[in-house]
Amino acid sequence: MSLKITDDCIACGACEPVCPNQAISLEAHVYVIDPARCNECFDLYSEPQCYVVCPTTCIVPDPEHRETLEELLWKKNGLHPEGWDR
Ligand code: SF4
Repeated sequence: MSLKITDDCIACGACEPVCPNQAISLEAHVYVIDPARCNECFDLYSEPQCYVVCPTTCIVPDPEHRETLEELLWKKNGLHPEGWDR
């Protein structure tokens, strides 16, 4: 399941640089998550990195983009075909 950023976003920008998938961008004064790139940081980090650094509670699961762990892994492998190295 992709995460999403709600209207409570204060546009601090903390989340954008920590996303390993370049899934976060600024649009019309708030940050948004591209569900095609977000894989919940599965198999990359132990927790979603945007959620960890967000100073508010505006990053939540997106029920419109539910995925199995297999799908999250497939997405990660597609985004990091050379492997993942922090
Ligand atoms: Fe990026 Fe991970 Fe946040 Fe998804 S959960 S937007 S992959 S930092």
